Amino acid sequence: MTRHFDCLVVGAGIIGLAHALAAVRAGLRTAVIDRDDRAVGASIRNFGFITVTGQPEGITWRRALRSRDVWAEVCAAADIPILQRGLLMCVRRPEALTVLEEFAASPMGAGCRILRGNALSGHQPVLRADQIAALESPHELRVESREAIPSLTAWLAATQGVTLFINTAVHAVDTGVVETTKGRFTADHIVVCPGPDLTTLFPAVMVRRSVTLCKLHMLRVANPGFTLPAPIMSDLGLVRYLGYAVAPSLPALRVRLESEQRDWLNDGIHLIAVQSADGSLVVGDSHHYAPTPDPFQPRAVDDRILAELSAVLSIPAPDVIERWTGIYPSGPDVAFREAPMTGVRLVMVTSGTGASTGFAIGEETIAEMLGRPMPAHQQEQA
Ligand SMILES: Cc1cc2nc3c(=O)[nH]c(=O)nc-3n(C[C@H](O)[C@H](O)[C@H](O)COP(=O)(O)OP(=O)(O)OC[C@H]3O[C@@H](n4cnc5c(N)ncnc54)[C@H](O)[C@@H]3O)c2cc1C
Repeated sequence: MTRHFDCLVVGAGIIGLAHALAAVRAGLRTAVIDRDDRAVGASIRNFGFITVTGQPEGITWRRALRSRDVWAEVCAAADIPILQRGLLMCVRRPEALTVLEEFAASPMGAGCRILRGNALSGHQPVLRADQIAALESPHELRVESREAIPSLTAWLAATQGVTLFINTAVHAVDTGVVETTKGRFTADHIVVCPGPDLTTLFPAVMVRRSVTLCKLHMLRVANPGFTLPAPIMSDLGLVRYLGYAVAPSLPALRVRLESEQRDWLNDGIHLIAVQSADGSLVVGDSHHYAPTPDPFQPRAVDDRILAELSAVLSIPAPDVIERWTGIYPSGPDVAFREAPMTGVRLVMVTSGTGASTGFAIGEETIAEMLGRPMPAHQQEQA
């Protein structure tokens, strides 16, 4: 068995896979090592919602645009269906509409438009009649992550020359060397993408960067009998997604939400509803932060998510057919990459946006390690 590679990637979630793709595209003989026998982490538990609009201004927004383009290429090549496109950010409060107007008028609103009147009522009765407007964004893609990630992994192995080592836990990394439960591997370049494992590799970095964990509730709701025009979000998303902070009126919306939906804000709830091939909806989510999140999924939190769904879409009694939680690392940085030793990079997305930004981050890391020019999205000014 070959045990030396140009590039070894630890972690087969989307961040590790994105680095593997960038590495093979740079001509490196590449392997990915994961302790599990298939992806079961955040990368398959998420919405599969590759978002641009609402991402923070600057490098994160540009990473999202670039990653969206790579997803489109990879989906075509690996036969991964794109199930939905765009975003409909639906609002029911005048304060939220003002935020949408300010956002749409800013550079961050490029390509977006506000629907109201006939343009909005065209989406009824799917949308409830008390929605007063919606921001329509053309930028987003949506894939079914629990199928897309295995397909991406198989495609990288079958057609891109990436070697996979599964059921192989990495317990130490040093320059040029990866120690695993299946022995030692060596590589010129090593990229560590451990997702929410904060204690096995480089725990001191996690402490220094104040990384903790975030637990999210997710639900699958039976086919409501209609087709969503696009992935749906609501007023609550405007105070959660950092990109809307460009709107000067955001504090006024927050004040109103604090008086009307305080429990939702305390649970970190905002609404995303996306639709799967069988018509069912993936609906979420909540955000609870702790270094060791509890394993429970209290019904009260799920009920608040469902109440928000029913406040936006004409689904008065959502039929929940599946529930799960997910965990991602969270910290003051949106994402970080650092070099704990020569030839090694530790890469972590600490803001729950890895599906949306991972491909661009992978390109940056590999360019940096090879001493090549940074990709265009990194060089452009915000
Ligand atoms: C419920 C939920 C919804 C989300 N929705 C979205 C969304 O719609 N859009 C979006 O952009 N982002 C979303 N996110 C965030 C996104 O899913 C994450 O940012 C992304 O999946 C992180 O990918 P990752 O590869 O870092 O982590 P993971 O997917 O957790 O993968 C990490 C991998 O590393 C392996 N590993 C760790 N340590 C070791 C070791 N020592 N040895 C070997 N293997 C190891 C693990 O086994 C695992 O396979 C969501 C997250 C959650 C939880």
